[in-house]
Order: sequence, then structure tokens, then C-alpha cells
Amino acid sequence: MAASDHDPGAVPMTSATQRETRGFQAEVKQLLRLMIHSLYSNREIFLRELISNASDACDKLRFRALAEPALLDGGAELAIDVDFDATARTVTVTDSGVGMSRDEVIEHLGTIAKSGTAEFLAALSGDQQKDAQLIGQFGVGFYSAFIVAERVEVHTRRAGLAAAEGVHWSSDGSGEFTVENEPLEQRGTRVVLHLKEDAVEFADAWRLRGLVKRYSDHIAFPVRMAAAPGGEAAAPAPARREAVNSAQALWTRPRTEIQDDEYREFYQHVAHDFGAPLAWSHHRVEGKREYTTLLYLPSRAPFDLWHRDAARGLKLYVRRVFILDDAEQFLPLYLRFVKGVVDSSDLPLNVSRELLQQDAEVEAMRAGITRRVLDLLAKLAKDEPEKFAGFWKEFGQVLKEGIAEDPANRERIAKLLRFATTATEREVQDQSLDDVVGRLRPGQKHLYYVLADTWNAARQSPHLERLRQMGIEVLLLHDRIDEWMTGYLGEYEGRTFRDAGRGDLDLGELETPAEQAADAAGAEAALALCGRLREALSGRVEAVRVTQRLAESPACLVRAADEVGAQLRKLLEAAGQAPAAKRPTLEINPAHPLVQRLERLADGEDFRDFAALLLDQATLAEGGQLDEPAAFVRRLNRLLLGGAPAPMKS
Ligand code: ADP
Ligand code: MG
Repeated sequence: MAASDHDPGAVPMTSATQRETRGFQAEVKQLLRLMIHSLYSNREIFLRELISNASDACDKLRFRALAEPALLDGGAELAIDVDFDATARTVTVTDSGVGMSRDEVIEHLGTIAKSGTAEFLAALSGDQQKDAQLIGQFGVGFYSAFIVAERVEVHTRRAGLAAAEGVHWSSDGSGEFTVENEPLEQRGTRVVLHLKEDAVEFADAWRLRGLVKRYSDHIAFPVRMAAAPGGEAAAPAPARREAVNSAQALWTRPRTEIQDDEYREFYQHVAHDFGAPLAWSHHRVEGKREYTTLLYLPSRAPFDLWHRDAARGLKLYVRRVFILDDAEQFLPLYLRFVKGVVDSSDLPLNVSRELLQQDAEVEAMRAGITRRVLDLLAKLAKDEPEKFAGFWKEFGQVLKEGIAEDPANRERIAKLLRFATTATEREVQDQSLDDVVGRLRPGQKHLYYVLADTWNAARQSPHLERLRQMGIEVLLLHDRIDEWMTGYLGEYEGRTFRDAGRGDLDLGELETPAEQAADAAGAEAALALCGRLREALSGRVEAVRVTQRLAESPACLVRAADEVGAQLRKLLEAAGQAPAAKRPTLEINPAHPLVQRLERLADGEDFRDFAALLLDQATLAEGGQLDEPAAFVRRLNRLLLGGAPAPMKS
């Protein structure tokens, strides 16, 4: 049977010990090629990745041994050994962790399990520097070995399986790998890198020690190397080994003794991101329930931030024993970008994902952790606004979900929101609600916003002409989630939110008595015109009334306060759940010459055409689509030609 390119799992198992050659999954081939090119200048990361995998393997075995102590038969010690041979040009990383079965080897070292991998690869640009960043965020893992190695061999035996079920995997990284069974005395995994000629620098004690210290000091298991040799003669007896790292779980050490660099390295390990974290918070909770958290905000959004099934959550430890990855029960969905560790002193060691779901203890920890993240963000916003701006750019849209998802923290989240507004005239979202509240006009009861598809459309919306004229600041909302979010915002600092494109603007005491009187007089005078327009446009509008919003435009459309807006309608339509659209209300500006001209026209075809034109242009001005564009053009042309009634076929 030929090896399959696409689905190694589809190849039927040959008899258990036979040697077989298989092709990597197409995505692996692509990733390997890109990685070797774009990560060349960061190539020492291979060691961190291999040690990270070895550490994960030790974590997993320690966890499984809780239920099945026999898994540790043959040696309870969990450790990682790093060796090299300068003559043979090899570097070897050995662990006494959980190991892999033959099927596991084929699956884990032949495919990429991450969702969205294909899209991720498609997003790579070919620009080395940019791609290196992206690949780093993607988490390069095991395959990074091929940046420095021309051949990689893995010898592994799954804990609990017999010696004969050891497996030997080998590949040159160009497209295929071979697997065969091989008797192995010890459980665990040994990865042997046959270095490329230009990577011999890594077959060196000093270089390797430096890398272990630098990248893997936080690893909770000893990373051992042969004790520094006295001379060049290779000792015939096995050299004494010593731990090169401090082998203490980072989060268990006191904050004051941890360097920023150590926090950063640990982030790369937990987040599988070789960028730097934006900020972190390390905290021990004591008292009724005891746990430690080390939480990180990444600098950049991961490629799969919007994937439903993307991994999220924290690494869960119980009394320093690793329990599970991606424990999403400790964070709400809108904080899914947070990475880190939670180590509980109270949860039982045999806790499972299912148990976590209904545990009151976990619920309380989640509330505590949520508060801690929000506090970290608030602190960042206050003390390091530039960093916070970076955060907002990457994760602001996700944080907005919290307004709906987390009513208990709504006020806290609202404080963190950032907006583009009419006060700045910049597209960048950098104004907080506190900023806006600080600029309220005396007597202003509402926080006004306008919703549109783009910032430009929001900024130019006729709905805010009058507000602008009065010097009232308006939030310019155009993110996909904004309309949904505004439905949950409620109020802020006693000011209710109000959509400038719906219902009554309620300018109230913002207008002087004289302005109010003028408004009322204008409305009164235009009452008859409104009635005539309603008649002419019957079936297309709900009502016609005199505007409070316009200053320069002749007319605009307004939705009822309870009507679904354009953004939300699109989302609902996509889900097949949109309610029937209501007819809009047409608001006219009696001070506008066009409206005044209309008023002078007698009822008849001209008046009807003119009225239709007014409605159509109001629709266009808010980015809407005309039902009958050809009719609009015909009417417009007629008007351009002097409004002379021309004989028309319809
Ligand atoms: P990740 O560590 O993010 O899962 P990697 O590419 O580093 O991705 O590793 C892929 C998988 O290969 C791991 O999830 C693990 O199942 C397996 N693996 C890699 N190295 C080891 C090891 N030393 N011991 C046991 N399993 C390993
Ligand atoms: Mg890994």
C-alpha cells in the first residue's frame, strides 16, 4: 500500500513491527518548507521546543501515574537529558516521560492537529520577517528540529507498553518519514538530531548549556547535561550528570525573586508563542481557597482567535501536578486570549474536564481570575496607555463580547472600551467612555452613537449633523459586534446610550428655549408638507416628520427604537433569523432649500417624483440599497434637466 499524502491515518495498519514509509500531511510539508526558510535566524528555538515537548511528556506521565502507578515501573524519575556528539554532529534530547505508541507517533509526528492550519498557511506572505512572526505565534513545535537537522530520529516507547513495542521514527523532513518497531529498554522518548553542516555550532556543551539556561530554566523537571569535562578526553565511564536549569515550577517561586526575562521565557512555553507577552499578573490567593495564577496577555492575536474550536484556557495544575491543558472553565469566552497557569491547592487530583464544569469551587476561581485579568487591563490602561492601545487593536473586539457575556463586570469592561468619536476625527479607537463623559455638554443626558459599516460612513452620517453643530460628541461605531454590544451597554455613569439614527434624540435641555421654540414653529409649519409626503410615499415609509437631527441634508431615514439595525440584520439574516423589516420614518429638514422648493410644488406627478427622490437619496446617504435604482436615475435626470415634466412611459 502506498503512503498517503493527505491522511496518514487512512493507511491500514501493516503488521505491527514492519517498517513502513509514509508521506507527511500536505500541511506539514508546507509548514516545514516555510519554517526552514523564515525561522533561520531564530533557529536555536528548536531546543526550547524539544525540551518543552519532553517536559509536557513528563507532565502527562506524572498525571497518568496518579491513577495507574505501575506506569512508573522501570524508574520513577522524570527528567530530561541533553547530549551531543561533536564528531558525529548530533544533539540528543531524551526524556523519561509518557512516550508514544506506534499509532501516536504516526499521528503526532506526521500531521498537524490544529484547527485552521490550512487558512493559517494561506495567510503567510512569503515575507520572511512577517512570516517568522506568524509561524512563531502558530507554535512551531517538533518540526522546528528540521531547521537545524538534516535528519531527525525519534526512539520512543509508551509508558505501560512492552519493550518490543518501542518505535523508531526517522525523516529528513523533505516529505516522508519511516516508522518501524524497535525494542527499547526504557519508556520515554529520545530525539536525535543529525545536524546540518552549518549547524554544528549546536554540538557544543557551552552553547547548549547557554540555550537551556536561557530558554528552559523554568521547566519544572531537571534538564541535565554531562558535568563539564575536565579535559577533551571523552570519559569512558558515563559522565556525571547535573541539572542545568533550576527545575522549579516558575509560578511556585516568590514574585520578587523572578526576573522579567524568566516570566517572558515561561510565557513562550505556556503560550506556544515566541513573541513577547504584553503584560502578566502573578498572584497567590490564600484563605478559604488557595490557588496561584500566572496570567499573560499576548502582544498579538493568535491566528485562530475567531475559530470556535480553537484551544483556549489555562494550563491547570493541582498542587504542582499538571492536570490538563486548555482548561477553559477558568476564563469566560471573552477573555479567551489570556494564557497562563492556574495551580489549585484544593481541587482533587483526579479532577476531570466534566467535573470542572459543575464545580462551585471552579466557579469561584473563575470569578476571581476574571477580576484579576480585568484589573490587569485597567492597570495597563492607566499606567501604560501605549501598551493598552496595542492590546485594544489586537483584542478589543473580543473584549467587547464581555459587555453582553458578563453582566457582573459590565461597568469594569465598559471602562476599558475604546472608541473613535467625532471629537477626534481619527479612525483609531482611542477614546474611553471616561474621556467622552468628561466632555459632555452641561445637561446632556445621553451618550450618543452612530452605527455604520465603516468609520467613514459613520463619520459622514446625516444623523449626526445637528449633534455636531451643537458640539455634542458622538461615538462612531462600525465594528461588526457594535450594534449587538450597544444593546447591552445600558448606561455609563448615569448616562444612557442613544443611537443617533433611531427614535427620538431627546436633546431636551441641550437646546435653548429659543431653539426649542424655533423647532416647534418649524415643525408646525411643515406639518402639512409632512402629510402630503406621507401620502405620496405611502407604502414606503412608516411616517414623515420634521427632523431634530439634520443641519445640512434635506432628509434622512430613522428607525424605530426597537427596530433591528443594518449590522445586526445582516448577522441575523446569515443565521436565517431576521425579523421582517419595518418601514423607516422619513425625517425632513424644513430649512433646506430642496424641501422648501418641494413645499411650493402642487400635488401631482412632479411632487410625487420629487418626494421619491428625497426618500431615495436619504436611503443612499446611509449606505442603503434602492429598490428601483433605474427609476431613481430617471427622476434625477429629469430634475437635472430643469425639472421640466417630460412625457414618460413607466
Ligand atoms: P505541541 O507540543 O504544541 O502539541 P509539537 O509539534 O511540539 O506540538 O508536538 C506534537 C505532538 O507530538 C505533541 O503534542 C505530543 O503528542 C507528541 N510529542 C512530541 N514530542 C514528544 C515527546 N518527547 N514525548 C511524547 N510525545 C511527544
Ligand atoms: Mg511542543
